[in-house]
Amino acid sequence: MTDVATEKAQAAHAGLEAPRTIVVIGGGQAAGWVVKTLRKEGFAGRLVMIADEVHLPYERPPLSKAVLAGDADIETVRLVKPADFDALNVEAWQPDCATSIDREQRIVRTKSGREVQYDRLVIATGGAARRLPESLVQTSHLAYLRTLDEAVALGERLRGSKRVLVIGGGWIGLEVAATARKLGVEACVVEGAPRLCARSLPPLVSDFLLELHRANGVDVRLKAALVKLEDHPRDVNRLRATFADGSTLDADFAVAGIGLAPHTAIAQAAGVKVEDGIVVDHFGATDDPRIFACGDVANHPSAWLKRRVRLESWANAQNQAISTAKALLGTFEPYADIPWFWSDQYDVNLQILGDIPANAELAVRGDLPGKRATLFYLEDNTIRGVIAINTPRELKLSRKWMNQGRTIDLATLTDASTALA
Ligand code: NAP
Repeated sequence: MTDVATEKAQAAHAGLEAPRTIVVIGGGQAAGWVVKTLRKEGFAGRLVMIADEVHLPYERPPLSKAVLAGDADIETVRLVKPADFDALNVEAWQPDCATSIDREQRIVRTKSGREVQYDRLVIATGGAARRLPESLVQTSHLAYLRTLDEAVALGERLRGSKRVLVIGGGWIGLEVAATARKLGVEACVVEGAPRLCARSLPPLVSDFLLELHRANGVDVRLKAALVKLEDHPRDVNRLRATFADGSTLDADFAVAGIGLAPHTAIAQAAGVKVEDGIVVDHFGATDDPRIFACGDVANHPSAWLKRRVRLESWANAQNQAISTAKALLGTFEPYADIPWFWSDQYDVNLQILGDIPANAELAVRGDLPGKRATLFYLEDNTIRGVIAINTPRELKLSRKWMNQGRTIDLATLTDASTALA
């Protein structure tokens, strides 16, 4: 399949002139890796990066952890040091916002009134934190966490609070709750679903996280249908949340982590195909051979999952961007990474690799519900997915076997007296 895809991509590329101007919309991790890779691969033409973010590209994983705790700042999260970015010779139009793409004339226009003609265009616009419905929110004591500046402001507020209400029991919610507890702040997590991280984790691991947070003093409430968020009736500096069952919760402020809305509007308005993200091939190309997309906003075919997927992860933002940048210059290396994701909460490092099919055979190595276990999800004696709880070495080894397509003996996997290697 990939050979056919490569031939198709090469044929589309062969019909175009070599790019002299490449424009990148976005200024996050994917955009940063695109510009870095383009220069590394020898692109010497004009490179314009348009981003509404005020900072040069930075990495997001520390935002809900070290930045919130006050242990990291822009200097520690940067993707590229300012001097190295200068050396890349990128025209960074920041802060500005690309407002339209004229595909016929190949022009991108911006909010500030600037325009640039492109030979190739990369859309790496990421997404925005999903918002709670306005009708539900009648207070200013509500924050979201997506950007560095939001994380810094949230951290200051958190460190000066006694109690935070976290809306959403997904990755942001759980990492914020863990950081709050580390800072000695009371935390309550309310999740609409019957379990935590239900979209990305099997029930066994959702239960593990639930126990982990409760053991660390977090008040976790599942199936909680929030109906109102308002100023506290007796203290306008605090808030009160009301739920469908009539119960209420008071806190100093609330932070909502209820998912990501990909920034696809500009692509959609330009007639580029969008379907849960901007639809791209194995090389990041859209249905317009001059336009590419990568990172959180791109919906790509995953060889491992055998379906299309839009991944919101650090590894994807980096590696899909690298593959896309190479394809822009005519080097077609299909992006075929096994999806990988990690989270740090309290003393637990949790990593998820590959697919977790509902019918897969589960082999547990180690101690669960203890804090050191590897869960292998097998189909036809090969590993389809792994969840590693404080076992990063076993995950690394599994990745190797998965890439090799190696068959595995289930008894060996679960026999803790036999070294996996
Ligand atoms: P998320 O992981 O998708 O979790 C959002 C959670 O909020 C879901 O469980 C969702 O349930 C729930 N929810 C939605 N509406 C709600 C409501 N009104 N009340 C209560 N719960 C509600 O998204 P996120 O935590 O906001 O994170 C945003 C993005 O950042 C994601 O892409 C995430 O992967 C990424 N991120 C990654 C890391 C990491 O790599 N370690 C850390 C933080 C964030 P439903 O699914 O039922 O809607």
